[in-house]
Amino acid sequence: MLNLVLFGPPGAGKGTQSEKLIAKYQLIHVSTGDLFRGHIKNQTTLGQKVSQLIADGELVPDSITIAMLEEEVDKNPDATGFIFDGFPRTVTQAEELDKFLVGKGSLITGVIALDVDQDELTRRIAERYKVRGRPDDDAEKLKKRIEEYFSKTIHVLPYYEEQGKLSKVDGIGEIETIFENLIAVIDQY
Ligand code: ADP
Repeated sequence: MLNLVLFGPPGAGKGTQSEKLIAKYQLIHVSTGDLFRGHIKNQTTLGQKVSQLIADGELVPDSITIAMLEEEVDKNPDATGFIFDGFPRTVTQAEELDKFLVGKGSLITGVIALDVDQDELTRRIAERYKVRGRPDDDAEKLKKRIEEYFSKTIHVLPYYEEQGKLSKVDGIGEIETIFENLIAVIDQY
């Protein structure tokens, strides 16, 4: 199994690169942000529970997020691998993901962090807000998301670094060049 975590702050390009990687490596894309947005759109019980938190740029509680993720993985018993995009966002989520995969005789192959500076992130999200109008891309909500990233999510990096699983790829430049740099890392696993 090839199980990748694509890591990075909001606007780093995780979604864009995940789409390209799943096509190349036949992986299942598990984006917790997309899953939550699907629940909100379909007005499920879970969607109703999380919509305000997400609109405010806050993280959804670990228990809810982990349960949703595990359910999604279990829906794909024949998968040859997964890309986790937007998950884990806390150390608890990272620990639970490891336990869950070990229980299935599997593990995380590697974690790739897309490196993008703050100015570029802000610029990209302002652009995305104009085009797609995602409510949590509004400047004030984005500020909260970036705060959540630096207070909680960033600690996931040393967790994987200690396991020798972390690689960094420059997330600035042509989409195609970034993709090639990701492939270079993955093909060494
Ligand atoms: P980004 O542009 O930051 O990559 P996502 O689409 O991944 O945004 O996530 C949107 C929102 O969904 C987050 O701001 C958060 O409220 C919620 N969310 C997504 N993944 C997680 C997670 N792993 N843990 C908690 N909340 C999450």
